[in-house]
Amino acid sequence: MSDSINPCIRCGACCCSFRVSFYWGESDDAPGGYVPHALTVQVTSTLSAMQGTHPVVTRCVALAGEPGRDVGCTIYPNRPAVCREFAAWQDDGLPDPRCTAARERIGLAALPALSHDTSEAG
Ligand code: SF4
Ligand code: SF4
Repeated sequence: MSDSINPCIRCGACCCSFRVSFYWGESDDAPGGYVPHALTVQVTSTLSAMQGTHPVVTRCVALAGEPGRDVGCTIYPNRPAVCREFAAWQDDGLPDPRCTAARERIGLAALPALSHDTSEAG
């Protein structure tokens, strides 16, 4: 996938903008869990969060690179479900408002709307 199709590899703003919390059972210290527990912090008895996103959001500890230029998730295959579900675009092709807000925080313009006649390779 080219970066003209996937803008996330030159962004990473959402990884620096929101608390990334999830059910603790996703952590690899739980049966069937996969998110590295060593990179998490306990939020409540049932919620964990990525370090760097709680209690103050600065930057997820798993984010490598320079936000706004060149980034990558160092635990990509094992990232929390909330990260997998965070999309740059909505189903209608418009940029997700949370994505736009995060990008604005680091000085990036909102993504353009996707045209419906564009077929994307997965
Ligand atoms: S803020 Fe949007 S464009 Fe940037 S990494 Fe997150 S989903 Fe991708
Ligand atoms: S786990 Fe990866 S995708 Fe999720 S916030 Fe951290 S760096 Fe971003």
